[in-house]
Amino acid sequence: MGRITLEKVTKSFGAVKVLHGIDLDIRDGEFIVFVGPSGCGKSTLLRQIAGLDKPTSGDIHIDGKHVNDVPAADRGLAMVFQSYALYPHMSVRQNLAFGLENARMPKAEIESRIAEAARMLEIGEYLDRRPGQLSGGQRQRVAIGRAIVRNPTAFLLDEPLSNLDAELRISMRAELSALHKRLETTMIYVTHDQIEAMTLANRIVVLRKGQIEQVGTPLELYNTPANRFVAGFIGAPS
Ligand code: ADP
Ligand code: MG
Repeated sequence: MGRITLEKVTKSFGAVKVLHGIDLDIRDGEFIVFVGPSGCGKSTLLRQIAGLDKPTSGDIHIDGKHVNDVPAADRGLAMVFQSYALYPHMSVRQNLAFGLENARMPKAEIESRIAEAARMLEIGEYLDRRPGQLSGGQRQRVAIGRAIVRNPTAFLLDEPLSNLDAELRISMRAELSALHKRLETTMIYVTHDQIEAMTLANRIVVLRKGQIEQVGTPLELYNTPANRFVAGFIGAPS
């Protein structure tokens, strides 16, 4: 479970068209990366999938179910943002438990999920601290942990590492790859960083001005770019 299909998805804000008819079939369990320059519509596309926003036209299906009218909380997805979005007044443990308590999950189940996520992400030592007492990398691990405990159909990650320094970003990339291998859950990952896309993705979706320029494996994009834009974007990392 975790197949997501987009058919002719468009999004306009007033008179401004931001997404121009996106067709995409995201396979169950794949690590797919949306890459493209700032402002090309990556976050907007992710928000339509998440249900945080509604397409102007077009259809979104998750595992065969039409979800355009399904609220975000009922889509079975979990989002991780660049800006952690942890509750500062709650401990790490409370941050992890929060969504599950709201969903009235039994306490024992909540505790076992937190323990499992804490083990996976090696955050067991910080469970009683508050976000303000953690480093950036630790906070980002907690944000990922909060997604994991929900046991989602798919993870949606919007530039989750871009606030971290270069060294930490590289080690977190490796951790995310390992996590994906372990969970085998669909991951949709947004970044403007070509290297991040090349190292993480099973398939890359190159976006430009609200349109898909090319979809393919990192090797396909590198070896046979569909056009100059893709060649320039993938071939010349900055
Ligand atoms: P990216 O994530 O690729 O940097 P975004 O999806 O955030 O790009 O934004 C794409 C375009 O849509 C930008 O021009 C942005 O200004 C515009 N946009 C995004 N959200 C809104 C909104 N809520 N209202 C108006 N314009 C928006
Ligand atoms: Mg964005």
